[in-house]
Amino acid sequence: MTINESLQWAMEIFEQEGVENARGNAEHLLDHCLGMDRTARFLMRHERVLSTVEEDVYRRLVAQRADHTPLQYLLGKAPFLNEDLVVDKWVLIPRPETEKVVEVAIWLLRQGESVVAPVVLDIGTGSGAIAVSLAKALQAKVWASDVSAEALEVAQINVRRLQLEEQVAVVHGDLFCPFHVLNLAGQVDLVISNPPYIPHRVVDTLAPEVSQHEPRMALDGGEDGCDFYRAIVPAAIPFLKPGLGWLVLELGDGLAVKVQDIIGNQREFSTPQVFPDLNGKDRVIMAKRGR
Ligand code: SAM
Ligand code: GLN
Repeated sequence: MTINESLQWAMEIFEQEGVENARGNAEHLLDHCLGMDRTARFLMRHERVLSTVEEDVYRRLVAQRADHTPLQYLLGKAPFLNEDLVVDKWVLIPRPETEKVVEVAIWLLRQGESVVAPVVLDIGTGSGAIAVSLAKALQAKVWASDVSAEALEVAQINVRRLQLEEQVAVVHGDLFCPFHVLNLAGQVDLVISNPPYIPHRVVDTLAPEVSQHEPRMALDGGEDGCDFYRAIVPAAIPFLKPGLGWLVLELGDGLAVKVQDIIGNQREFSTPQVFPDLNGKDRVIMAKRGR
């Protein structure tokens, strides 16, 4: 098959299987197979014939994408802020909404009482997206936890590729458990998390790319989506610097009021503030530990 024929063939399959943006997907996967970028492909003669190996690899990738495997898993990478991060099926693909959460945290820690090299805990780090971004932007020292050992392998690859080993440590375990031995009580400037927040019964109604291919453990937030907020909010308090430390959490759709209540009930925090994402949905909640 030529380049043009390959693209046409893949687009037809994607359209039949209900894969969105058939052309974009066909092109990205072909560029990946041919080891080139878009510009290089444009400069190439479109009647160039794929080698047997190229065609074989392309057919396999197209079949997987037609089965709704997310494009980012097939390419092995996903963009996040200014970096391409390594991803595989063991980690949630980092989302643009989470970029907003990171931006709010950076803005917050650069305000008034800002500290040099703040200490940060990232709960449920997945690919390490939040952890590496804060380490780079704030010269932060980040401790990042996840219950998934497989996810932590991916996070560690991203830490190493970005040469952040001196600043980011990934630790295996449930929420704050791995931090208890580190003597961090009252030392932390920021506790940040994008926790699983999809209500249990909603997970299976999401796009097949999400519901059938992303780790359920990264998505399912229990019956009302709030299980992790109820666990994280009180557990964060003893780690945060009194009067200085911030809690910043990504919010699931429609959860702002409930999470405001969960934080408010602790009485240890300032009144929480909520920020919208680029689509105008309440996406970030933040509150400071009182004195
Ligand atoms: N921080 C990444 C991001 O924003 O792209 C991943 C967030 S993903 C929504 C939630 C992560 O929490 C997953 O990596 C999942 O494995 C992890 N997780 C689930 N339960 C956990 C627990 N009890 N303790 C620590 N991490 C947990
Ligand atoms: N933002 C993801 C989605 O809506 C969910 C991630 C999470 O539960 N934090 O698909």
